[in-house]
Amino acid sequence: MKLAVYACDPAHSRGRRYAEGEAPTRNAYQRDRDRIVHSTAFRRLVYKTQVFLNHEGDLFRTRLTHSLEVAQLARSMARTLGLHEDLVEAIALAHDLGHTPFGHAGQDALNECMAPHGGFEHNLQSLRVVDGLEERYPQFDGLNLCFETREGILKHCSVRNAQLLEAQEPGGVGARFLHKAQPSLEAQLCNLADEMAYNAHDIDDGVRSGLITLEQLQDVPLFDHYRRQVQAEFYSLSGRRLLYESIRRMLSDQVYDVLAASQAALQQHAPDSVDAVRLAPPLVQFSPAMQQRSVQLKTFLLHHLYRHPQVLQTTDWAKQVVRELFEAYLAQPQEMPEGHAQRAHLPRAVADYIAGMTDRFATREHARLRA
Ligand code: MG
Repeated sequence: MKLAVYACDPAHSRGRRYAEGEAPTRNAYQRDRDRIVHSTAFRRLVYKTQVFLNHEGDLFRTRLTHSLEVAQLARSMARTLGLHEDLVEAIALAHDLGHTPFGHAGQDALNECMAPHGGFEHNLQSLRVVDGLEERYPQFDGLNLCFETREGILKHCSVRNAQLLEAQEPGGVGARFLHKAQPSLEAQLCNLADEMAYNAHDIDDGVRSGLITLEQLQDVPLFDHYRRQVQAEFYSLSGRRLLYESIRRMLSDQVYDVLAASQAALQQHAPDSVDAVRLAPPLVQFSPAMQQRSVQLKTFLLHHLYRHPQVLQTTDWAKQVVRELFEAYLAQPQEMPEGHAQRAHLPRAVADYIAGMTDRFATREHARLRA
């Protein structure tokens, strides 16, 4: 597949923070992808919660399987749009590296604990992981990824944190949040693929867990359209196959919708380079109709799944675990590994340590420190 003029090209990358030679057979984005796959933070995603706590069942999504699904969706769309597939894959696989244990509950709790010390943002944490916290190379901290990969990883950023990033790295990945510019199309695509992936797999996990039902989903026009279509075609189909086939059709249609809407936007704005993309409005998008239906689905999942009493019960417990871990390490830094205990900014060292934990390690540490 030929790269489009508006795609990121590794031959014209803005480069790495520490200069490195080229690899003989791999382009710069392939190397980034490979570094991410081999990182410690990536392996830990398998034991981190997406919505359901990791120990609640073996079939629910974890951060790892979620990231793989995002990469699959983003790659397949990237190929059609002429974008760089390796870059898209690298961003997708790295986008959740900064997530705490216990999903959003863990993150909210850590953000509260860190409020007096600069706060905690999971997107910024993903960048911190690849920029510094991974310890694998003799010459530098972190994975020393290309600018374009780091740009894609930092999806959101508060102005305050963008200013701090800008002070450390002028014109770097924080700059676009200050100048209201867009990231590359590869980054925009991963962002949308993330949303498409979790909407689809949360229906799946939600129904299989019994927390939401197909009957309730009749209130969600986007999903119910495909459910009715499948049942009209396969009259006696029910259960799992009905669920899977409805989700499959929904996802495919969303993919075709994004491709058509984005191709139209690209034609209209005709960016002739990545820099032109950064100055244009967002170009990877749903059609307005699909956007509206996608929001309805998100709202449904928020009310019926993410705020389900059974989910909230486990999130309350998870928040308490994170809060108590934070207090314990702050009071007794020696309970952390030496590298963390000796860092200058103790609260940030504690936050980095907790954020890196898997659900089960955090649970074990909590029990150990309370014993
Ligand atoms: Mg995600």
